[in-house]
Amino acid sequence: TEAALAKINAEQPALNAFITINQKKALARAAELDAEGIDPDDLLAGIPIAYKDNIVTNGIRTTAASHILDNFNPVYDATVVEKLDAAGTINLGKTNMDEFAMGSSTETSHFGVTHNPWDLERVPGGSSGGSAAAVAAGEVFAALGSDTGGSIRQPAAYNGIFGIKPTYGRVSRWGLIAFGSSFDQIGVFTRRAQDAAVLLGAISGHDAKDSTSSEQAVPDFTAAIGQGIKGLKIAVPDEFFGEGIAEDVKAQVEKGLQQLADQGAIIDHVQLPHTKYAVPAYYVLASSEASSNLQRFDGIRYGFRAADVKNLDDVYVRSRSEGFGPEVKRRIMLGTFALSSGYYDAYFNKAAAVRTLIKQDFEKILATHDLIIGPTAPDTAFKIGVNDDDPITLYMKDILTISANMAGVPAASVPAGFNAEGLPVGMQMIAKRFDESTIFRAAAAFE
Ligand code: GLN
Repeated sequence: TEAALAKINAEQPALNAFITINQKKALARAAELDAEGIDPDDLLAGIPIAYKDNIVTNGIRTTAASHILDNFNPVYDATVVEKLDAAGTINLGKTNMDEFAMGSSTETSHFGVTHNPWDLERVPGGSSGGSAAAVAAGEVFAALGSDTGGSIRQPAAYNGIFGIKPTYGRVSRWGLIAFGSSFDQIGVFTRRAQDAAVLLGAISGHDAKDSTSSEQAVPDFTAAIGQGIKGLKIAVPDEFFGEGIAEDVKAQVEKGLQQLADQGAIIDHVQLPHTKYAVPAYYVLASSEASSNLQRFDGIRYGFRAADVKNLDDVYVRSRSEGFGPEVKRRIMLGTFALSSGYYDAYFNKAAAVRTLIKQDFEKILATHDLIIGPTAPDTAFKIGVNDDDPITLYMKDILTISANMAGVPAASVPAGFNAEGLPVGMQMIAKRFDESTIFRAAAAFE
């Protein structure tokens, strides 16, 4: 814990991976564990980790990287925090992210961008960019993130580490500050799949506090590791190698697929025909849910309130106008419009119908295959600032990740080497609902 904190503090000015460093409490907790004595069979006891700053932590500031929450001090722990505390992990702090998890670069954070440890001029991806950078830089052994449309997988790819978004319902969302509730899942970043299997096991399972959490039994995910992949049926969608996907990314992922084939996996080429509608449908649906979820930030209940307000309307309008950043406002407006009475059928319902079609595309392929594999992101980490004035280009970069959230299936990004510039490339593995084990099996065989 001391060594990890020293590294975090030393690198914070260059990387800015953390919003809050939990120095004092982490050291106290480590001393407590030392005094109690650690059982070597407790794989997680004493392991320094970090949480994305939209996961609430009792007594530790939780901001979702927004000005509107920059003085919010929760009075309870998220279920995942409760579980990992009980397992003996040590919380070293809260990591940087896009404001309310809206973005793909951490550039929308109220606390400044996080820098990619492979090239400080580049973004770490997002929205869980701080968590990914902290693990890639070796500041912590693991970090938690959240994934609504790719926010674990895309930063994992940009940082050359493993990141998994489990099946919707696998992990309790209690204490996760909601963005798009029907898409959001908490997941794990580690360097190796094997370590993520241990952590995911520790945070999974039914929780009475989250009505969408599943009763499905949680298998020992580590049991899948080392089984080999002979005979594993892999589907490779043509749409994941189409226009807009960088050649260097395709080349690395194709090499990865060849490696899997060499180990005995059977590779098939398939179609996911509704992929092209995923981005517009997701931005309508996720923004609609966000516009509803973010109503609670009214200047009264949490965090920030505008100064010198004159009446109640003024409290709401000014606190929200000053408290939310431009990307969050854009989503709230888009969502409110899509849900408004004259447009609900044309936009929200239409997008919901597209979601069903995408889900059916996945069900069809996964009925006859163990995994769907393709690139995680269409490109590698881009330079800070290049997409500043172009939200649509940024939204389009989610094309390969959001379908898994639409379908609720588990998906991970596995490191697949580097391009000619030395930037990491991620290979995405998508499995059937509640079949994270197959992802761990294939990822571990690939490592
Ligand atoms: N980039 C996507 C968005 O901005 C996904 C974000 C996420 O998964 N939280 O909505």
